[in-house]
Amino acid sequence: MTAEEKIYDVIIIGGGPAGLTAAIYAGRALLSTLMIERAMPGGQAATTDAIANYPGFPNEITGPELMTKMEEQARNFGLEVISADVDSIEAENKIKRIFAGGKEYKARSVIITSGADPNKLSVPGEDKFTGAGVSYCATCDGAFYIDKHVLVVGGGDSAIQEAIFLTRFAERISVVHRRDKLRAAKTVQQKAFDNQKIDYFWDSVVEEIKGSDKVSSVILKNVKTDESKEIEIDGVFIYVGITPNTGFLPPAVKTDDRGFIITDESLQTAVPGVFAAGDVRKKLLKQIVTAVSDGAVAATAVEKYLENFS
Ligand code: NAP
Repeated sequence: MTAEEKIYDVIIIGGGPAGLTAAIYAGRALLSTLMIERAMPGGQAATTDAIANYPGFPNEITGPELMTKMEEQARNFGLEVISADVDSIEAENKIKRIFAGGKEYKARSVIITSGADPNKLSVPGEDKFTGAGVSYCATCDGAFYIDKHVLVVGGGDSAIQEAIFLTRFAERISVVHRRDKLRAAKTVQQKAFDNQKIDYFWDSVVEEIKGSDKVSSVILKNVKTDESKEIEIDGVFIYVGITPNTGFLPPAVKTDDRGFIITDESLQTAVPGVFAAGDVRKKLLKQIVTAVSDGAVAATAVEKYLENFS
């Protein structure tokens, strides 16, 4: 039987830590499980260099390594994976229909673990130089900047952790932050403040990214003084938050004003049989450890939901 002919117990949309953990738990509960993932399983976590706060790895583990292990574990429990972009879901009936890559897949339940994508600054030059000096992934592109001067935009955990990571390659890393205090965890901040290669443009925003064939400078504006200045730079790494991937959802699946899915305690959405887990869900802490926890809860809730399915 092909994947399109089957009716799965559960279809998981997205293959980051939440989706892979949901797959492990669903597999162990002997639920027939299909994962639809737009690229390779691993999600945003696979682009993270050093993971220092995931329990069990006192000497850190890289994102790609951790995610490869999670995928292997999920596949050991019988997970099927299809590579496609989900376009839409019809979720009002008991059998859910998922439309992806021009095909239709069916399941008794759905777990949405589609995660979130990096936000853009939306300034002139950003799109033009993406891949030519503008990057959203230090793990992917950091090695191009050996002995160079790069800018990291943002003050959250991602920005500061990746600024620290870039010190392996670049000679100088300048963090541009729109306020005078970082948002990142205090321990991460301290590590960055202790690193001589990192300096800061406080109360500043990027107004424009300039260059010819690749980035050569940026215009920074100080939001307190309104003064603008141009500084020469070899690369710009942008980490200004994330937006959930929810474009394919029917309106009946309720979200908050930023698009994050609202769930109940069992991670069920406003639509019976549709669950959400990981970064795509509205919650306090978005980390790998909470994503895997969500994945386990959602798969267990699915198991209970299917016990009463007729
Ligand atoms: P975030 O925590 O939302 O931080 C975004 C940063 O970008 C903030 O400092 C924000 O400034 C700044 N910003 C937002 N929009 C901007 C704009 N238009 N122009 C300039 N600056 C802008 O996002 P994140 O760092 O990507 O992290 C996302 C989630 O993942 C967080 O919950 C984070 O804790 C988690 N995370 C955890 C780890 C870890 O623990 N290992 C690693 C990475 C991410 P303000 O501070 O002024 O708002």
